[in-house]
Amino acid sequence: MLNHSEERYLVLENYIGGKFIPCRSHIDSFDPSTGEVYCKVPDSGKEEVEAAVAAAKEAFPGWSARSPEQRAQILNKLADLIEAHLEEFAQAESRDQGKTVTFARTVDIPRTAYNFRFFASSVLHHTTDCSQMDHMGCLNYTIRCPVGVAGLISPWNLPLYLLSWKIAPAIAAGNTVVAKPSEMTSVTAWMMCKLMQQAGVPPGVVNIIFGTGPQAGDALVGHPEVPLISFTGSTATAQRITERTAPYCKKLSLELGGKNPAIIFADADLDQCIETTVRSSFSNQGEICLCTSRIYVERSIYSKFLERFVAAAKKWKTGLPSDPSNNNGALISKEHLEKVRSFVALAKSEGGIIHCGEGVDQLDLPERNRNGYFMPPTVISGLSDNSRVIQEEIFGPVTCVSPFDTEDEAVSKGNGVRYGLAATVWSRDVGKVHRVAKRLQAGLVWTNCWLVRDLNLPFGGMKNSGVGREGGKDSYHFFTEVKSITIKH
Ligand code: NAD
Repeated sequence: MLNHSEERYLVLENYIGGKFIPCRSHIDSFDPSTGEVYCKVPDSGKEEVEAAVAAAKEAFPGWSARSPEQRAQILNKLADLIEAHLEEFAQAESRDQGKTVTFARTVDIPRTAYNFRFFASSVLHHTTDCSQMDHMGCLNYTIRCPVGVAGLISPWNLPLYLLSWKIAPAIAAGNTVVAKPSEMTSVTAWMMCKLMQQAGVPPGVVNIIFGTGPQAGDALVGHPEVPLISFTGSTATAQRITERTAPYCKKLSLELGGKNPAIIFADADLDQCIETTVRSSFSNQGEICLCTSRIYVERSIYSKFLERFVAAAKKWKTGLPSDPSNNNGALISKEHLEKVRSFVALAKSEGGIIHCGEGVDQLDLPERNRNGYFMPPTVISGLSDNSRVIQEEIFGPVTCVSPFDTEDEAVSKGNGVRYGLAATVWSRDVGKVHRVAKRLQAGLVWTNCWLVRDLNLPFGGMKNSGVGREGGKDSYHFFTEVKSITIKH
Protein backbone atom coordinates (compact mmCIF):
# COMPACT_ATOMS: atom_id res chain seq x y z
CA MET A 1 0.00 0.00 0.00
CA LEU A 2 2.99 2.33 0.46
CA ASN A 3 3.78 4.13 -2.75
CA HIS A 4 7.04 5.95 -3.05
CA SER A 5 6.20 9.12 -4.93
CA GLU A 6 9.83 10.19 -5.02
CA GLU A 7 12.75 7.92 -5.64
CA ARG A 8 14.29 8.01 -2.18
CA TYR A 9 11.54 9.13 0.10
CA LEU A 10 8.01 8.33 0.96
CA VAL A 11 6.14 11.64 0.49
CA LEU A 12 2.94 12.08 2.46
CA GLU A 13 -0.03 14.28 1.60
CA ASN A 14 -2.75 15.82 3.71
CA TYR A 15 -6.19 14.23 3.59
CA ILE A 16 -8.86 16.89 3.27
CA GLY A 17 -12.48 16.47 2.17
CA GLY A 18 -11.82 12.87 1.10
CA LYS A 19 -8.89 13.80 -1.17
CA PHE A 20 -5.13 13.60 -0.87
CA ILE A 21 -3.78 17.14 -1.19
CA PRO A 22 -0.05 17.70 -1.73
CA CYS A 23 1.70 20.22 0.50
CA ARG A 24 4.26 22.80 -0.65
CA SER A 25 6.80 22.18 2.10
CA HIS A 26 7.83 19.12 4.05
CA ILE A 27 9.49 17.99 7.27
CA ASP A 28 12.08 15.20 7.34
CA SER A 29 10.97 12.06 9.12
CA PHE A 30 13.62 9.60 10.31
CA ASP A 31 13.83 5.83 10.51
CA PRO A 32 14.83 5.53 14.20
CA SER A 33 16.63 2.23 13.62
CA THR A 34 19.13 3.79 11.18
CA GLY A 35 18.95 7.51 11.90
CA GLU A 36 18.31 8.14 8.19
CA VAL A 37 15.58 10.31 6.65
CA TYR A 38 13.14 8.10 4.78
CA CYS A 39 9.93 10.08 4.65
CA LYS A 40 8.74 13.63 3.96
CA VAL A 41 5.82 14.82 6.03
CA PRO A 42 3.70 17.84 4.99
CA ASP A 43 4.64 20.96 6.93
CA SER A 44 1.08 22.23 7.12
CA GLY A 45 -0.03 25.53 8.60
CA LYS A 46 -3.07 27.77 8.90
CA GLU A 47 -4.10 27.45 5.26
CA GLU A 48 -4.30 23.65 5.33
CA VAL A 49 -6.05 23.64 8.71
CA GLU A 50 -8.54 26.18 7.39
CA ALA A 51 -9.35 23.94 4.41
CA ALA A 52 -9.71 20.88 6.66
CA VAL A 53 -12.02 22.65 9.11
CA ALA A 54 -14.16 23.90 6.20
CA ALA A 55 -14.45 20.34 4.85
CA ALA A 56 -15.32 18.99 8.29
CA LYS A 57 -17.96 21.70 8.79
CA GLU A 58 -19.55 20.92 5.46
CA ALA A 59 -19.69 17.20 6.22
CA PHE A 60 -21.14 17.63 9.72
CA PRO A 61 -24.88 18.03 8.97
CA GLY A 62 -25.00 14.90 6.82
CA TRP A 63 -22.85 12.74 9.10
CA SER A 64 -24.55 13.77 12.33
CA ALA A 65 -27.96 13.08 10.78
CA ARG A 66 -27.08 9.45 10.13
CA SER A 67 -28.23 6.90 12.69
CA PRO A 68 -25.68 5.41 15.10
CA GLU A 69 -26.19 2.07 13.31
CA GLN A 70 -25.25 3.59 9.95
CA ARG A 71 -22.14 5.17 11.40
CA ALA A 72 -21.25 1.97 13.26
CA GLN A 73 -21.40 -0.02 10.02
CA ILE A 74 -18.72 2.21 8.50
CA LEU A 75 -16.51 1.99 11.60
CA ASN A 76 -16.74 -1.79 11.50
CA LYS A 77 -15.83 -1.80 7.81
CA LEU A 78 -12.79 0.30 8.60
CA ALA A 79 -11.79 -2.15 11.35
CA ASP A 80 -12.11 -5.04 8.85
CA LEU A 81 -9.87 -3.22 6.38
CA ILE A 82 -7.23 -2.43 9.00
CA GLU A 83 -7.18 -6.08 10.00
CA ALA A 84 -6.88 -7.13 6.37
CA HIS A 85 -3.80 -4.88 6.06
CA LEU A 86 -2.44 -5.63 9.52
CA GLU A 87 1.01 -6.75 8.42
CA GLU A 88 1.60 -3.69 6.20
CA PHE A 89 0.55 -1.40 9.02
CA ALA A 90 2.74 -3.23 11.55
CA GLN A 91 5.80 -2.98 9.30
CA ALA A 92 5.15 0.69 8.63
CA GLU A 93 4.55 1.56 12.30
CA SER A 94 7.77 -0.17 13.27
CA ARG A 95 9.82 1.61 10.64
CA ASP A 96 8.32 5.00 11.48
CA GLN A 97 8.43 4.74 15.27
CA GLY A 98 11.35 2.38 16.00
CA LYS A 99 9.25 -0.14 17.96
CA THR A 100 9.54 -3.84 17.19
CA VAL A 101 7.39 -5.25 14.42
CA THR A 102 6.18 -7.80 16.96
CA PHE A 103 4.85 -5.07 19.26
CA ALA A 104 3.16 -3.25 16.39
CA ARG A 105 1.72 -6.54 15.10
CA THR A 106 0.38 -7.68 18.47
CA VAL A 107 -0.49 -4.38 20.16
CA ASP A 108 -0.67 -1.20 18.05
CA ILE A 109 -2.51 -2.40 14.98
CA PRO A 110 -4.91 -4.97 16.49
CA ARG A 111 -5.81 -2.39 19.15
CA THR A 112 -6.42 0.19 16.43
CA ALA A 113 -8.91 -2.11 14.73
CA TYR A 114 -10.45 -2.90 18.11
CA ASN A 115 -10.89 0.79 18.92
CA PHE A 116 -13.07 1.21 15.81
CA ARG A 117 -14.99 -1.97 16.60
CA PHE A 118 -15.45 -1.11 20.24
CA PHE A 119 -16.83 2.39 19.63
CA ALA A 120 -18.98 1.12 16.74
CA SER A 121 -20.63 -1.17 19.24
CA SER A 122 -20.68 1.04 22.32
CA VAL A 123 -22.37 3.96 20.53
CA LEU A 124 -25.41 1.73 20.08
CA HIS A 125 -25.91 1.24 23.79
CA HIS A 126 -25.90 4.65 25.43
CA THR A 127 -29.00 5.84 27.20
CA THR A 128 -29.99 9.24 28.51
CA ASP A 129 -31.76 10.33 31.72
CA CYS A 130 -35.40 10.97 32.40
CA SER A 131 -37.21 12.23 35.51
CA GLN A 132 -40.76 13.25 36.28
CA MET A 133 -42.07 16.11 38.47
CA ASP A 134 -45.77 15.33 38.72
CA HIS A 135 -46.41 18.13 41.22
CA MET A 136 -45.20 20.60 38.56
CA GLY A 137 -46.76 18.71 35.66
CA CYS A 138 -43.32 18.31 34.14
CA LEU A 139 -41.36 15.58 32.48
CA ASN A 140 -37.60 16.13 32.28
CA TYR A 141 -35.18 14.32 30.05
CA THR A 142 -31.75 14.72 28.54
CA ILE A 143 -30.54 14.35 24.99
CA ARG A 144 -26.98 14.23 23.70
CA CYS A 145 -25.85 15.91 20.48
CA PRO A 146 -22.50 15.74 18.68
CA VAL A 147 -20.43 18.86 19.24
CA GLY A 148 -19.38 19.66 15.65
CA VAL A 149 -15.81 19.65 14.36
CA ALA A 150 -13.50 17.88 16.81
CA GLY A 151 -9.78 18.72 16.84
CA LEU A 152 -7.70 15.65 17.66
CA ILE A 153 -3.97 15.74 18.43
CA SER A 154 -1.92 12.63 19.12
CA PRO A 155 1.68 11.74 20.10
CA TRP A 156 4.37 9.49 18.60
CA ASN A 157 4.57 6.58 20.99
CA LEU A 158 1.54 4.53 19.90
CA PRO A 159 0.80 6.48 16.73
CA LEU A 160 -2.17 4.84 15.04
CA TYR A 161 -3.54 3.28 18.19
CA LEU A 162 -3.85 6.59 20.06
CA LEU A 163 -5.16 8.41 17.01
CA SER A 164 -7.90 5.81 16.56
CA TRP A 165 -8.72 6.07 20.28
CA LYS A 166 -9.88 9.61 19.42
CA ILE A 167 -11.21 9.31 15.85
CA ALA A 168 -13.41 6.29 16.60
CA PRO A 169 -15.51 7.73 19.47
CA ALA A 170 -15.61 11.19 17.86
CA ILE A 171 -17.13 10.04 14.58
CA ALA A 172 -19.22 7.29 16.17
CA ALA A 173 -20.97 10.03 18.17
CA GLY A 174 -21.67 12.00 14.96
CA ASN A 175 -18.88 14.58 14.98
CA THR A 176 -16.58 15.26 12.07
CA VAL A 177 -12.87 15.60 12.79
CA VAL A 178 -9.64 17.31 11.91
CA ALA A 179 -6.79 15.23 13.29
CA LYS A 180 -3.10 16.00 13.55
CA PRO A 181 -0.80 13.08 14.34
CA SER A 182 2.75 13.64 15.59
CA GLU A 183 5.07 14.93 12.87
CA MET A 184 7.50 12.18 13.88
CA THR A 185 5.06 9.34 13.18
CA SER A 186 2.61 10.22 10.45
CA VAL A 187 2.85 7.31 8.03
CA THR A 188 0.22 4.91 9.35
CA ALA A 189 -2.34 7.72 9.74
CA TRP A 190 -1.75 8.58 6.08
CA MET A 191 -2.13 4.90 5.13
CA MET A 192 -5.40 4.74 7.04
CA CYS A 193 -6.81 7.62 4.96
CA LYS A 194 -6.88 5.29 1.94
CA LEU A 195 -8.87 2.80 3.94
CA MET A 196 -11.28 5.57 4.98
CA GLN A 197 -12.12 6.00 1.32
CA GLN A 198 -12.63 2.25 0.86
CA ALA A 199 -14.71 1.94 4.03
CA GLY A 200 -17.10 4.58 2.76
CA VAL A 201 -16.30 7.29 5.30
CA PRO A 202 -17.94 10.26 3.55
CA PRO A 203 -15.60 13.05 2.37
CA GLY A 204 -14.89 15.58 5.10
CA VAL A 205 -15.88 13.36 8.03
CA VAL A 206 -12.22 12.57 8.79
CA ASN A 207 -9.56 15.06 7.71
CA ILE A 208 -5.93 14.51 8.58
CA ILE A 209 -3.43 17.34 8.58
CA PHE A 210 0.26 16.57 8.97
CA GLY A 211 2.77 18.96 10.44
CA THR A 212 4.44 20.29 13.55
CA GLY A 213 2.79 21.15 16.84
CA PRO A 214 3.66 24.83 16.97
CA GLN A 215 2.41 25.37 13.39
CA ALA A 216 -0.31 22.91 12.32
CA GLY A 217 -1.26 21.92 15.89
CA ASP A 218 -1.47 25.52 17.03
CA ALA A 219 -3.63 26.50 14.04
CA LEU A 220 -6.00 23.65 14.86
CA VAL A 221 -6.36 24.29 18.59
CA GLY A 222 -6.70 28.03 17.96
CA HIS A 223 -9.35 27.67 15.26
CA PRO A 224 -12.55 29.37 16.42
CA GLU A 225 -14.77 26.81 14.68
CA VAL A 226 -13.27 23.78 16.41
CA PRO A 227 -15.15 23.76 19.72
CA LEU A 228 -13.57 20.61 21.16
CA ILE A 229 -9.98 19.42 21.47
CA SER A 230 -8.89 15.94 22.50
CA PHE A 231 -5.15 15.96 23.08
CA THR A 232 -2.71 13.24 24.08
CA GLY A 233 0.86 14.30 24.68
CA SER A 234 3.10 16.04 27.16
CA THR A 235 2.00 18.15 30.09
CA ALA A 236 4.00 21.13 28.79
CA THR A 237 2.12 21.11 25.45
CA ALA A 238 -1.21 20.70 27.26
CA GLN A 239 -0.47 23.83 29.26
CA ARG A 240 0.09 25.75 26.01
CA ILE A 241 -3.11 24.33 24.51
CA THR A 242 -5.08 25.29 27.62
CA GLU A 243 -3.87 28.89 27.35
CA ARG A 244 -4.47 28.97 23.59
CA THR A 245 -8.04 27.69 23.84
CA ALA A 246 -9.10 29.64 26.95
CA PRO A 247 -10.47 32.65 25.02
CA TYR A 248 -12.82 30.31 23.11
CA CYS A 249 -13.99 28.26 26.15
CA LYS A 250 -13.32 25.03 24.25
CA LYS A 251 -14.14 21.62 25.61
CA LEU A 252 -10.82 19.94 26.43
CA SER A 253 -9.74 16.39 27.14
CA LEU A 254 -6.06 16.16 28.04
CA GLU A 255 -4.28 12.80 28.37
CA LEU A 256 -0.77 13.62 29.56
CA GLY A 257 2.48 12.38 31.01
CA GLY A 258 3.11 10.05 33.91
CA LYS A 259 5.71 8.98 36.44
CA ASN A 260 4.04 5.78 37.41
CA PRO A 261 4.90 3.90 40.60
CA ALA A 262 4.86 0.15 41.26
CA ILE A 263 4.37 -0.62 44.96
CA ILE A 264 5.56 -4.09 45.82
CA PHE A 265 4.78 -5.62 49.21
CA ALA A 266 6.70 -8.52 50.74
CA ASP A 267 3.80 -10.95 50.24
CA ALA A 268 3.62 -10.39 46.47
CA ASP A 269 3.91 -13.31 44.04
CA LEU A 270 7.46 -12.36 43.05
CA ASP A 271 7.65 -14.47 39.88
CA GLN A 272 4.56 -12.84 38.43
CA CYS A 273 5.52 -9.42 39.79
CA ILE A 274 9.03 -9.40 38.33
CA GLU A 275 7.93 -10.67 34.93
CA THR A 276 5.18 -8.03 34.76
CA THR A 277 7.24 -5.17 36.20
CA VAL A 278 10.02 -5.72 33.65
CA ARG A 279 7.34 -5.56 30.96
CA SER A 280 5.64 -2.53 32.54
CA SER A 281 8.98 -0.70 32.80
CA PHE A 282 10.43 -1.42 29.38
CA SER A 283 7.69 -2.31 26.88
CA ASN A 284 7.79 -0.23 23.71
CA GLN A 285 11.21 1.12 24.84
CA GLY A 286 9.51 2.53 27.96
CA GLU A 287 7.65 4.86 25.64
CA ILE A 288 4.15 4.24 26.97
CA CYS A 289 2.57 6.85 29.21
CA LEU A 290 1.52 3.99 31.52
CA CYS A 291 5.01 2.51 31.90
CA THR A 292 6.37 1.99 35.41
CA SER A 293 9.26 4.30 36.18
CA ARG A 294 9.47 4.20 39.99
CA ILE A 295 9.52 0.87 41.82
CA TYR A 296 9.05 0.88 45.59
CA VAL A 297 9.79 -2.44 47.30
CA GLU A 298 9.14 -3.43 50.94
CA ARG A 299 12.54 -3.49 52.63
CA SER A 300 12.42 -7.14 53.75
CA ILE A 301 12.47 -8.31 50.10
CA TYR A 302 14.31 -5.34 48.60
CA SER A 303 17.70 -7.00 47.95
CA LYS A 304 16.18 -10.20 46.62
CA PHE A 305 13.83 -8.24 44.37
CA LEU A 306 16.55 -5.97 43.02
CA GLU A 307 18.86 -8.85 42.16
CA ARG A 308 16.13 -10.80 40.36
CA PHE A 309 14.71 -7.71 38.67
CA VAL A 310 18.09 -6.65 37.27
CA ALA A 311 18.71 -10.20 36.03
CA ALA A 312 15.34 -10.16 34.25
CA ALA A 313 15.92 -6.66 32.81
CA LYS A 314 19.23 -7.84 31.33
CA LYS A 315 17.30 -10.51 29.42
CA TRP A 316 14.97 -7.89 27.88
CA LYS A 317 16.67 -7.72 24.49
CA THR A 318 17.15 -4.51 22.51
CA GLY A 319 18.07 -4.52 18.83
CA LEU A 320 16.73 -4.57 15.30
CA PRO A 321 12.97 -3.90 15.33
CA SER A 322 12.45 -6.54 12.66
CA ASP A 323 14.09 -9.33 14.69
CA PRO A 324 11.33 -11.27 16.49
CA SER A 325 13.74 -12.25 19.27
CA ASN A 326 14.07 -8.62 20.38
CA ASN A 327 11.80 -7.11 23.00
CA ASN A 328 12.70 -3.50 22.23
CA GLY A 329 13.69 -1.56 19.14
CA ALA A 330 14.91 2.03 18.85
CA LEU A 331 13.76 5.19 20.64
CA ILE A 332 11.86 7.74 18.62
CA SER A 333 14.57 10.32 17.89
CA LYS A 334 18.15 11.38 18.47
CA GLU A 335 16.97 14.26 20.70
CA HIS A 336 14.85 11.93 22.78
CA LEU A 337 17.65 9.38 23.12
CA GLU A 338 19.96 12.16 24.32
CA LYS A 339 17.35 13.36 26.79
CA VAL A 340 16.85 9.86 28.22
CA ARG A 341 20.62 9.32 28.44
CA SER A 342 21.02 12.66 30.21
CA PHE A 343 18.81 11.40 33.04
CA VAL A 344 21.07 8.37 33.47
CA ALA A 345 24.10 10.68 33.60
CA LEU A 346 22.31 12.85 36.15
CA ALA A 347 21.51 9.78 38.28
CA LYS A 348 25.18 8.79 38.18
CA SER A 349 26.30 12.27 39.19
CA GLU A 350 23.92 12.13 42.16
CA GLY A 351 25.46 8.86 43.39
CA GLY A 352 22.81 6.54 41.92
CA ILE A 353 23.83 2.98 41.08
CA ILE A 354 23.30 1.98 37.44
CA HIS A 355 22.74 -1.78 37.68
CA CYS A 356 22.35 -2.50 33.99
CA GLY A 357 21.75 -0.78 30.67
CA GLU A 358 23.14 2.58 29.63
CA GLY A 359 26.91 2.71 30.12
CA VAL A 360 26.95 -0.83 31.56
CA ASP A 361 25.75 -3.15 28.79
CA GLN A 362 26.85 -2.87 25.17
CA LEU A 363 24.40 -3.43 22.35
CA ASP A 364 25.49 -5.57 19.44
CA LEU A 365 24.04 -3.80 16.39
CA PRO A 366 24.64 -4.34 12.67
CA GLU A 367 26.83 -1.72 10.95
CA ARG A 368 23.80 -0.12 9.24
CA ASN A 369 22.10 0.49 12.58
CA ARG A 370 24.99 2.01 14.50
CA ASN A 371 23.45 5.48 14.14
CA GLY A 372 20.03 4.24 15.25
CA TYR A 373 18.57 5.47 18.54
CA PHE A 374 18.97 2.32 20.62
CA MET A 375 19.30 2.11 24.38
CA PRO A 376 19.23 -0.97 26.64
CA PRO A 377 16.87 -1.31 29.66
CA THR A 378 18.41 0.62 32.53
CA VAL A 379 17.79 0.03 36.23
CA ILE A 380 18.87 2.63 38.79
CA SER A 381 18.82 2.60 42.59
CA GLY A 382 20.11 4.81 45.39
CA LEU A 383 18.42 8.10 44.43
CA SER A 384 16.70 10.51 46.80
CA ASP A 385 12.97 11.15 46.46
CA ASN A 386 13.54 14.69 45.23
CA SER A 387 16.03 13.79 42.49
CA ARG A 388 14.87 15.02 39.07
CA VAL A 389 15.30 11.43 37.87
CA ILE A 390 12.58 10.38 40.34
CA GLN A 391 10.41 13.45 39.82
CA GLU A 392 10.37 13.99 36.04
CA GLU A 393 8.93 11.91 33.23
CA ILE A 394 11.80 10.28 31.28
CA PHE A 395 9.66 8.28 28.82
CA GLY A 396 12.37 5.80 27.96
CA PRO A 397 13.73 2.41 29.11
CA VAL A 398 14.76 3.64 32.56
CA THR A 399 13.29 2.65 35.90
CA CYS A 400 14.35 3.47 39.48
CA VAL A 401 14.09 1.14 42.47
CA SER A 402 13.91 2.18 46.16
CA PRO A 403 12.92 0.49 49.43
CA PHE A 404 10.06 1.40 51.81
CA ASP A 405 9.18 0.30 55.34
CA THR A 406 5.47 0.93 55.91
CA GLU A 407 2.25 1.09 53.93
CA ASP A 408 1.98 4.82 54.69
CA GLU A 409 5.48 5.45 53.40
CA ALA A 410 4.75 3.48 50.22
CA VAL A 411 1.64 5.57 49.54
CA SER A 412 3.44 8.81 50.30
CA LYS A 413 6.34 7.93 47.95
CA GLY A 414 3.90 6.81 45.27
CA ASN A 415 2.06 10.14 45.52
CA GLY A 416 5.19 12.24 45.85
CA VAL A 417 5.35 13.55 42.27
CA ARG A 418 3.28 16.03 40.27
CA TYR A 419 1.88 13.29 38.02
CA GLY A 420 -1.00 10.91 38.72
CA LEU A 421 -1.64 8.69 35.72
CA ALA A 422 -1.19 5.01 36.61
CA ALA A 423 0.14 2.78 39.40
CA THR A 424 0.55 -0.90 40.11
CA VAL A 425 0.23 -2.52 43.54
CA TRP A 426 1.58 -5.98 44.30
CA SER A 427 0.31 -7.97 47.28
CA ARG A 428 -1.77 -11.07 48.00
CA ASP A 429 -3.60 -9.22 50.78
CA VAL A 430 -6.90 -8.00 49.33
CA GLY A 431 -7.47 -5.52 52.14
CA LYS A 432 -4.06 -3.99 51.63
CA VAL A 433 -4.33 -3.63 47.86
CA HIS A 434 -7.76 -2.09 48.27
CA ARG A 435 -6.54 0.42 50.90
CA VAL A 436 -3.47 1.39 48.91
CA ALA A 437 -5.30 1.60 45.56
CA LYS A 438 -7.83 3.94 47.15
CA ARG A 439 -5.15 6.25 48.57
CA LEU A 440 -2.95 6.44 45.48
CA GLN A 441 -3.36 9.58 43.40
CA ALA A 442 -3.65 7.90 40.02
CA GLY A 443 -6.39 7.66 37.41
CA LEU A 444 -5.65 3.95 36.91
CA VAL A 445 -4.46 1.42 39.49
CA TRP A 446 -3.62 -2.13 38.46
CA THR A 447 -3.19 -4.64 41.26
CA ASN A 448 -1.14 -7.77 40.53
CA CYS A 449 -1.21 -6.96 36.80
CA TRP A 450 -0.49 -4.17 34.34
CA LEU A 451 -2.13 -2.74 31.23
CA VAL A 452 -5.23 -4.85 31.41
CA ARG A 453 -7.60 -2.56 29.53
CA ASP A 454 -11.37 -2.65 29.52
CA LEU A 455 -12.29 0.14 27.11
CA ASN A 456 -15.54 0.71 29.01
CA LEU A 457 -13.61 2.04 32.00
CA PRO A 458 -12.69 5.71 32.36
CA PHE A 459 -9.13 6.35 31.16
CA GLY A 460 -7.16 9.41 32.23
CA GLY A 461 -4.98 10.97 34.85
CA MET A 462 -5.05 13.10 37.98
CA LYS A 463 -2.85 16.08 38.85
CA ASN A 464 -0.49 16.98 35.97
CA SER A 465 -1.39 13.76 34.13
CA GLY A 466 -4.55 15.11 32.64
CA VAL A 467 -7.96 16.63 32.64
CA GLY A 468 -11.06 14.57 31.93
CA ARG A 469 -11.57 10.90 31.15
CA GLU A 470 -12.14 9.01 27.91
CA GLY A 471 -13.29 5.44 27.23
CA GLY A 472 -16.78 3.91 26.82
CA LYS A 473 -19.40 6.22 28.30
CA ASP A 474 -16.82 8.91 29.13
CA SER A 475 -15.76 9.25 25.49
CA TYR A 476 -19.40 9.48 24.46
CA HIS A 477 -19.98 12.17 27.05
CA PHE A 478 -16.90 14.10 25.98
CA PHE A 479 -17.72 13.96 22.29
CA THR A 480 -21.35 15.06 22.82
CA GLU A 481 -23.08 17.96 24.53
CA VAL A 482 -25.87 17.10 26.93
CA LYS A 483 -29.05 19.12 26.95
CA SER A 484 -31.75 19.02 29.65
CA ILE A 485 -35.29 19.42 28.34
CA THR A 486 -38.40 20.01 30.43
CA ILE A 487 -41.89 19.49 29.02
CA LYS A 488 -44.90 20.78 30.93
CA HIS A 489 -48.10 18.93 30.19
P1 NAD B 1 4.11 16.43 22.63
O1 NAD B 1 3.29 17.15 23.64
O2 NAD B 1 5.42 16.97 22.27
O3 NAD B 1 3.31 16.28 21.27
C1 NAD B 1 2.04 15.67 21.20
C2 NAD B 1 1.30 16.21 20.00
O4 NAD B 1 1.05 17.59 20.21
C3 NAD B 1 2.07 16.11 18.69
O5 NAD B 1 1.18 15.83 17.64
C4 NAD B 1 2.64 17.51 18.54
O6 NAD B 1 2.91 17.87 17.21
C5 NAD B 1 1.50 18.34 19.10
N1 NAD B 1 1.88 19.67 19.58
C6 NAD B 1 3.08 20.08 20.05
N2 NAD B 1 3.04 21.39 20.36
C7 NAD B 1 1.78 21.82 20.09
C8 NAD B 1 1.12 23.07 20.20
N3 NAD B 1 1.74 24.15 20.65
N4 NAD B 1 -0.18 23.15 19.84
C9 NAD B 1 -0.83 22.06 19.39
N5 NAD B 1 -0.25 20.85 19.25
C10 NAD B 1 1.04 20.72 19.60
O7 NAD B 1 4.21 14.93 23.17
P2 NAD B 1 5.02 13.73 22.51
O8 NAD B 1 6.46 13.96 22.82
O9 NAD B 1 4.57 13.54 21.11
O10 NAD B 1 4.47 12.49 23.32
C11 NAD B 1 4.99 12.06 24.51
C12 NAD B 1 4.15 12.52 25.68
O11 NAD B 1 2.81 12.06 25.53
C13 NAD B 1 4.62 11.96 27.00
O12 NAD B 1 4.55 12.97 27.98
C14 NAD B 1 3.62 10.87 27.30
O13 NAD B 1 3.46 10.55 28.66
C15 NAD B 1 2.37 11.48 26.75
N6 NAD B 1 1.36 10.45 26.50
C16 NAD B 1 0.25 10.41 27.30
C17 NAD B 1 -0.70 9.42 27.10
C18 NAD B 1 -1.95 9.35 27.95
O14 NAD B 1 -2.89 8.69 27.53
N7 NAD B 1 -1.99 9.97 29.12
C19 NAD B 1 -0.53 8.49 26.08
C20 NAD B 1 0.63 8.57 25.29
C21 NAD B 1 1.55 9.56 25.50
